[in-house]
This record gives sequence, C-alpha cells and structure tokens, in this order.
Amino acid sequence: MHYLIISDIHSNWEALEAVLEAVRGLYDKVLCLGDLVGYGADPNPVVDWVRTNAAVVIRGNHDKACSGLESPEWFNDTARNAALWTLNSLAPENLTYLTNLAKGPVDSDGITLVHGSIVDEDEYVVGPREAAQMFSYQEARLAFFGHTHLQGGFVLGSNRLQVIRPQPNKGPQYLEIQPTEKYLLNPGSVGQPRDGDWRSAFVLYDSDEKLIVFYRIEYDLDKAQQKILAAGLPEPLAARLRVGR
Ligand code: ZN
Repeated sequence: MHYLIISDIHSNWEALEAVLEAVRGLYDKVLCLGDLVGYGADPNPVVDWVRTNAAVVIRGNHDKACSGLESPEWFNDTARNAALWTLNSLAPENLTYLTNLAKGPVDSDGITLVHGSIVDEDEYVVGPREAAQMFSYQEARLAFFGHTHLQGGFVLGSNRLQVIRPQPNKGPQYLEIQPTEKYLLNPGSVGQPRDGDWRSAFVLYDSDEKLIVFYRIEYDLDKAQQKILAAGLPEPLAARLRVGR
C-alpha cells in the first residue's frame, strides 16, 4: 500500500493543490493528521477535498477552535482572529464535518496517528524528551504526528533515540523502516512550514517496501498570500508563509 501522509494544511489550498499534483498516481490512501483549517483563506476547498478523499483524518487544535468545539481564548490575537473568521466562513456541512473529526490517537493498518502526541492531542513533540515519553506509550512500529509544523522525527533503537531532520535542499529524503526499531515521524506542514523553508512538506510511505520519503515542493505562494490579504485576515499570516515561520 502507498500512503500519502499530510498534516497542518491550514486552509492553504494552493499548497494542497501543488502537493496533489506532485503525487498524482503515486498513492492509494490518504492519512491526514489534523489542522485542516486556521490561518489561510481557503477553509472550504481544503475541507471539501479532505472530506472526500482522505481515508483517515484526526482533528487538530485549530479544527477544534475553528469549528467552535473549543474557545480560541488561549490562541494569540492573530490565530484567534483567523479562527473566528474561519468559523464564520465554513459551509455548514464542513463545520459539521470538523466538529465530528476523531480525536487521536487513531490506529489505521497498524500505524498510529496523532496530531500532537499519544498522551495529549495538543502536546508539541519537539525534542527527544517528549519523543521518549511518547515512545513509552507507542505500541505500533510506526506512528505519525503533526502539530509542530517541523518535518522529521525520531527513531528508537535498542537503547538509543535518534533525531531525524531531513535536509530539504537535498531533494526527497529516504528512510527505510527497520523491523527492530520504532518510528515517530512528522510529515511536516502542507500549508504553513515553520523550519525556515516556505515549501510545502509531506510524506509518502510504501508499506510493502518499508520506505518513507520526505518531500518538499513549491506552490503558488503569491496567490495564497493575496487571498489571505483579500479576505481581510491579519497581514502577518501572509508574511510568515514566505519565510517559513
Ligand atoms: Zn497546525
């Protein structure tokens, strides 16, 4: 089975469209790790696509805030403003869809999917300390997480925890899944990368070949930025896309 694994799309239709164009014909099943909406100007096209095409989807913190499931009071002003704008912009069927998204962890074909971590869907797994805690709860060989918007992850060997940080400028990065180790991997963010590289991030996983490929691809950044400004969303949301922060 060939999986397309995506996370943190954040209403960026131009980015999602470019990803789909790049992987056309290369996958059988889509797994989505949450934060479909929030920040960007195209919540409805993004939710329409995910709703129709993803086999498994779990909710992110922005999906909760933008659908009214949770108050965005703990968001900063910019994120709260975008959450309220999204709540008012969502078509009724998309609002209902977001409200009913599953809470992670969810297991699919023996793969564990979470937005933040297994312990807490809103936790940021940034470094080895959080990863070690999550590994202690992780039964599956392979787990995917999102939320940090940082592509990469962690590998747990017999007694050593290794950090994986793909070098985006070197083209697609390959990782072979070994039967003796556990993996906690982040495909990166489709719609708002935060590692200083503006390009959209995602992962393809071939479960027969036991091969993970980390990708970065360019998308129509200008158009996504113009839509954010035209929608009256906060200007910093457009600016940050260009710097990848
Ligand atoms: Zn996010």
